[in-house]
Formats: sequence, C-alpha cells, structure tokens
Amino acid sequence: MLDFLNDLAQRAVPQAREEFAELQDFASQELGLENLQPWDVGYASEKLREARHAISQEQLRPYFPAPRVVEGLFSVVERLYGVRFEEDEQVTCYHPDVRYFQITENDTPIAGFYLDLYAREGKRGGAWMADCRVRRQTSDGLQLPIAFLTCNFTPPVGDKPALLTHDEVTTLFHEFGHGLHHMLTRQTIADISGINGVAWDAVELPSQFMENYCWEREGLDLLAAHIDTDEPLPGELLERLQAAKNFQSAMGMVRQLEFSLFDLRLHHQASAPDASHIQALLDEVRQQVAVMPAAPFNRFQNSFGHIFAGGYAAGYYSYKWAEVLSADAWSAFEEEGIFDPTTGQRFRQHILEQGGARDAAELFAAFRGREPSVEPLLRHSGIRAA
Ligand SMILES: [Zn+2]
Repeated sequence: MLDFLNDLAQRAVPQAREEFAELQDFASQELGLENLQPWDVGYASEKLREARHAISQEQLRPYFPAPRVVEGLFSVVERLYGVRFEEDEQVTCYHPDVRYFQITENDTPIAGFYLDLYAREGKRGGAWMADCRVRRQTSDGLQLPIAFLTCNFTPPVGDKPALLTHDEVTTLFHEFGHGLHHMLTRQTIADISGINGVAWDAVELPSQFMENYCWEREGLDLLAAHIDTDEPLPGELLERLQAAKNFQSAMGMVRQLEFSLFDLRLHHQASAPDASHIQALLDEVRQQVAVMPAAPFNRFQNSFGHIFAGGYAAGYYSYKWAEVLSADAWSAFEEEGIFDPTTGQRFRQHILEQGGARDAAELFAAFRGREPSVEPLLRHSGIRAA
C-alpha cells in the first residue's frame, strides 16, 4: 500500500505545485494577499473557484425533477443488468413519502427496497443505504434481500415535483450503488451476503462507480430534463460542471495522500513513537507531498481521529484505494460503452453478486482481467501524466 501511495504522490505532486502557484498568483493579483498564508488558502481557493467555475446548484435544479431522476436511475440499472423495477403499492410503508419497489428478473422477484427521499421532521439527516433483510437461505426457504434507501432531499411543494441539485442526484446514485451491492447478491449465507464481509477498502467500489452516470452526457440524458421545457442539460452547463469537478484536483489528491501516508507510516513503526517523533514523521511526509506551507504551530496530528479511532487506523488510504478501483472499473465501461450489457453482466457477476465470498482483490482482477491501475483515476481527476 505504501508503494501505491508513493506512486500516486509522485504523479500528482508536480501538478499540485502548479495549481498552488496559480492560486498564489491569483491571491496576490486579485485579493492583495502577497504572501499566501495557510489560513488564507481556503478563502482564496473559494474566490478562485467562483472566478473560474461559477456554477450554482440552483441553476441546475430545474433539470433534475426527482421523479425523472429516479426513472433515469432505474433505466441505467435496467440497461446494465437487465433487471426491472416495479412499484408495489400493496406493501405498507412507514411514512406516506416512502415508496416500495420490487426488482424482478425474468418476471421473478429478486429483491425489494424502500425509497425514502425527502427530509421531514424527526428524520435523521444524511443519506445512506441500510439493509432491512439480507439474502440468505432459511429453513423456510430463500429470503430475498430488502434495502432502505434513505436521503434527505428538499421535499416537493404543492403539486410541483421536488427539484434536486446535481450533488443530490450524485448522492442518490452513490447510495443506490451500495443498494445494488446488497440487492443483487447471489450469496445465501448472511455473513458474506450483499455488503457483509466485503473488505473495508472495496466497499465503496459499487457506490462510487454509480456516480459516474451523473457526469456523462449519455447518462445525464436519461435522468435530466428541464421541468418546464423538457430540454436536456445544455452542453455548456455540463462542461462547466465537469470543469468545476476537477478544480484543484491535484491539490486535493496530495492532501489526501499526506493524511494516508502519515497514517500508514505511523502504524508501520515498530515501537510507539513519542510526540517529537510523530511531529518529525509528519514533517517528513509533508516534505514529500504537501504543496501548501503548514503553519509552524499546526498540530494537525493531535486531532486526526482517523489514526486511532473509528476503525480507520492504518486504513485512511482506503478512501483513495476505493477511488482507484471505481475509476478503473469505470474505464472498462468507457472502453466498451457505458451501457454495454456484457460489461454490465461481468461487473454484476464478479463484483455485485459476490459480496464477501471471495477476496476483493481477486474479484476485481476477475472483472478487469488484470490488477487495478491508477491511470484511470488520474485521468478522471484531470491529472496529466508527469
Ligand atoms: Zn458510500
């Protein structure tokens, strides 16, 4: 894993330096900040983003009426995996906003899910997929998987449908990716069925993979249509959206690598280091990958909870690793067509159906025909080959 991180760092650092130099120029010319200080970086970046990539989520909302987006999501999945979605109004839901759907294949039910999209009083915030029932063999027969897909979008007003931001659309696709991992499983033992037993650093693969459909013309045409005119998302808006996505992407990447390398190298040490050694290690990592100066009094290591709590100790790298896997999986679809049913079936068969039955690295290699490559992530992030 250290090799993987060092390799990414080597490729991303040159561009991150350029991005930071551009930010420094902008800050001194436009904001009167001659010497860009660490505490001004966030402010200056936001100003630069506004100047270069002004795009507001409010501008995008009219193109994403919720019912259209949900229909589009279903058609993406139908085209990829040949399954069908049907609403089942006979199933009692726990709130009038909630709808229940069945997934069928060859007219046979294989899974179900509750779709709970809107914020309401007393509902926990955020977006998540949770399992209601896991697919497993019981003494009474096969139990089919059922998921909860929960978001907190702004509810519709009157008889107008809710209009979603592009961020919200991406969130829905992300959570639905987790949902498909849960619902398309073929496993019959609960501990390895769906997302159960899937390696920590591979569990975000199906979810991040699904997000790609929200960034491509072909995908967006299925789920975006102007609420009043029914027009597709204009090309100019899409280009701005895509450009804004990769704003300062190399700087963002080296920041994540700084955290990952520090975390991993700290846990690699044979004996517990004292405070000065921890500081020295962080300084060394920063020397290698950081492009922004750190304030001399910065003690980031003391509040970096990931390194000792929450299950991420020596596991921070998993954020980046999952991105590598999903970008590389997506590149297979770029090669064959993003709705190519054969590639879709392979992804389903080798990744979604397997759950924790086999090692994640083995599954990925079975799908991709080789080990994961970092190239697609760099390309998708707009990071040029050094
Ligand atoms: Zn996720």
